[in-house]
Amino acid sequence: MSEEKVTFRVVEQFVSINGEGRRAGQLALFIRFAGCNLNCEYCDTKWANEAEVSYEEYTVEQLYQMIKNSKVKNVTLTGGEPLIQPNMNSLLNKLREDKQLRIEIETNGSVDIYTFLPKAKSSNMQTEAEHDVLSDNVSFTLDYKTAVSGMEHQMCMKNYVNLRCQDTVKFVVGSVEDLQKAKQIIEKYHLVEKGCGIYLSPCFGKIEPADMVEFLVENRLNDVNVQLQLHKFIWDPEQRGV
Ligand code: SF4
Repeated sequence: MSEEKVTFRVVEQFVSINGEGRRAGQLALFIRFAGCNLNCEYCDTKWANEAEVSYEEYTVEQLYQMIKNSKVKNVTLTGGEPLIQPNMNSLLNKLREDKQLRIEIETNGSVDIYTFLPKAKSSNMQTEAEHDVLSDNVSFTLDYKTAVSGMEHQMCMKNYVNLRCQDTVKFVVGSVEDLQKAKQIIEKYHLVEKGCGIYLSPCFGKIEPADMVEFLVENRLNDVNVQLQLHKFIWDPEQRGV
């Protein structure tokens, strides 16, 4: 199949602000793809994962034009699970050519990201791979689904070896046990030393943010962020397209 014939199922696209992560509060174009391979207890986008959800199909070129026409530099590819879209690498290859753009892929942590990382092209593998990592305008925001999600058994732990400094890990936590699990993973995979962004986000109604802060204080977790989703404060939590 030629690249032009490859299409992606998009359920919504809109410009808003990033609600979380390293660019929280900044403008971003969100492109939400249909379908997810998980079924988290707290999912607030279940509608996008239903088999009968309505979607529009876009080619790589059409998505690129949509992005350029938006005049927004931060682009968030989300879902559902964007990495289960067939041929996602054809889209990423195109977006990697335009260094004006900052692409963030929000992935649920169950898909191996290795396939989607830039690959060295010559025999000078080490140097070229390092250069590609540093210049890559595509970053991953990897969820770690703790026990509160019901999906912890689906996590692809190999991903933590492949994370780079521009990547981010988000732990959605609902209990002190979840916080302890997050701490274990942060330490085991040296996420702070790697320079990854590390965020703890509360599952609303399950844990008090104040208790999360206390956990950080007690454990002296430097370089780890407690983050509340801005959207939950600015808009109705159920509102779409914001
Ligand atoms: S991974 Fe995300 S989109 Fe998929 S079920 Fe979980 S919360 Fe919903």
